[in-house]
This record gives sequence, C-alpha cells and structure tokens, in this order.
Amino acid sequence: MSNVTVCVRFRPLSHKERKANGDRVCFKRLDSESFVFKDEREEDVIFSFDKVFYEDAEQSDVYNFIAVPIVAADAINGINGTVITYGQTGAGKTYSMEGPSILHCNKQKTGLLQRVVDELFQCLQPLESLNMWSVKLSMVEIYLEKVRDLLDLSKDNLQIKESKTQGIYISGATEISIMNNSDALECLSEGIANRAVGETQMNLASSRSHCLYIFSVQHVSTDERVTAGKIILVDLAGSEKVEKTGAEGRVLDEAKTINKSLSALGNVINALTTGKPNHVPYRDSKLTRILQDALGGNSRSALLCCCSPSASNAPESLTKLIKTAPKS
Ligand code: ADP
Ligand code: MG
Repeated sequence: MSNVTVCVRFRPLSHKERKANGDRVCFKRLDSESFVFKDEREEDVIFSFDKVFYEDAEQSDVYNFIAVPIVAADAINGINGTVITYGQTGAGKTYSMEGPSILHCNKQKTGLLQRVVDELFQCLQPLESLNMWSVKLSMVEIYLEKVRDLLDLSKDNLQIKESKTQGIYISGATEISIMNNSDALECLSEGIANRAVGETQMNLASSRSHCLYIFSVQHVSTDERVTAGKIILVDLAGSEKVEKTGAEGRVLDEAKTINKSLSALGNVINALTTGKPNHVPYRDSKLTRILQDALGGNSRSALLCCCSPSASNAPESLTKLIKTAPKS
C-alpha cells in the first residue's frame, strides 16, 4: 500500500473557455474516483484515481480528503507530509493552494495553506504551554534549479543538505517562528509577494518556478518525548509543453528545467506508487531531493493534479494524467 494519494481536480470552465468552446468539456463524470476522458480524436479513455474533484467541489472537500490526515494525524506525531499541486498554467494550482487571495478571501474559499495553518494551531494550541510545541515556516522557490529564499531574497542559491538529526534540510533558509494564524498569514503573504513570475504567451503572469511552503513542527508529549515532523506544500511550476508557448531564450531554459524536474518528480512518484521503492531517483532534481524524506520513508503525501475542463486543453491534460495516473 502506497503512502501517496493521487487526486484530480477539474476547475469550473472560465468565461474565456466558454466563449471559445461553449460548454464542451473534455471529460465525462463516472463517479468520485473515475471519469472518461475524450482525447483530440474523441477516443474515450477511462482514468481512475484515489479521488476526482469535479467543478462543484469546494475547497473544504479537497482539504478534508487530502490534507486532514497529513496535518492532524501525522505532523503532530513526527510523520512528514507533502501536498503537491500539479498541472498546466491556469489549471487551478495556486487557487487550490492559496484560494483567490491569501489575505482577502471569504472563509469558504480559503485554500489548502490557510486550512493547514488553522488545523495545525487547533491541534497545538490546546497544549497551553509554549515549550510543548513550536512551528517554524520557511518558503523557498526553485527557479532554474536554484533554490531561492522567499523570506530573504538576498539568499538566492541555497544548498540542500542532510544530517542525522534533521534529515534533508535547506541550509541557511530563513525560518520564522509562528505562534498563531496571523503570524502565519503575514509570513505567507510576504513570501508570496516575492515569488518570481515569468512571462509566456499562455499567461502574462504564469509561474515559472516551484514554490515550497515548509512547516516544521516540533511537539513534546506529556512524557517528554520529542517528535519533529515537516509538512511541505508545493505549488509546482506550470506543466505545459514548450511548443505551445512559443518560447525562446530564457523562457525556453525555464521550460526545459521545469520539464526536467517535473519528470524527475513523476519518476519518483511512479517508483513509490508502483511498490518498487528500491531505487527512487531523488537526486535527479533539487525538487525531488528537498522532498526526499517528505515523499518516501516515514511520510504521507498527496498529489493534486489540477485540470482545465476545457476541450481545448485536452492533449496537455491527457499527457499529464497518463504520467501521474496510478498504475493498477
Ligand atoms: P495555476 O496556479 O494553475 O496557474 P490558478 O490557480 O491561478 O492556476 O487558476 C487560474 C484561474 O482560474 C484563476 O483566475 C483562478 O481564480 C481560477 N480558478 C482556479 N480554480 C478554481 C476553482 N476551483 N474555482 C473557481 N475558480 C478557479
Ligand atoms: Mg499558479
């Protein structure tokens, strides 16, 4: 049994998509775990996942299914967890992670990040005494295989290290102690504002970097046992193919490194989900290296593949799904 849950989320059609294609969508709902996908030639392929969230799914549905076990059960007990959003630009990764806006958004629409923070403090705050727990937050971005500190932009090439006590860690990354929700939101919004955005024809402000939110949770139980767990949330760079964006120069370099690290992640997840974890190629990219002890070993992870429901994006969505669909 694998510790990696793979889910799909179709966002609602956008106005633009509706204008271009009417209400035509690229899939037909079967049940809460599978759908029929229509490719360009209208051939039907059935896909099955641990869970499929359709257009009408609420942020809370997504959170409850994929993140609650990771936060409430695991992080407090020293088990690492990862939640990753994957998909092409405009598919709903950042919306799922941050909601429409990290600071100004109604409760119903808040994303995974805020919900993780809420749940964490709900679990920890009843442990009145502060020396019983601590939460630290780091935010880094991986851009062109360089790890940059989003909480201190002067640190633009952090190194990944490993030690017996800490496991895998990013050496020198800023860590902010957070005691409550408002500390966390202040820190998150600073990091989010710093996130690099590149320009492509697909989307003027498409994210060309992977963004990692790292919560380090330390907890001392009543019998003074110390447990340390990490929750890492990852908003991946867009998975779109290079040709479609008509990229050149720097943009092409970006696309190539993104493709490389995404296929490294795909290989790692495939090795973990197919039950052949003998050689998991964590070292093939910075992303998989940082995630090593939060994906493999004593950990639990969830991959949320975000998809546009629009038929115009069918080929991209299909290749993406084939790579990540659990092999039964
Ligand atoms: P990505 O981060 O994958 O590039 P975004 O999260 O920015 O994509 O989403 C693209 C657009 O679609 C945004 O305007 C966002 O608000 C909207 N959107 C995405 N997912 C949903 C959803 N589940 N419900 C409503 N709007 C959504
Ligand atoms: Mg985004």
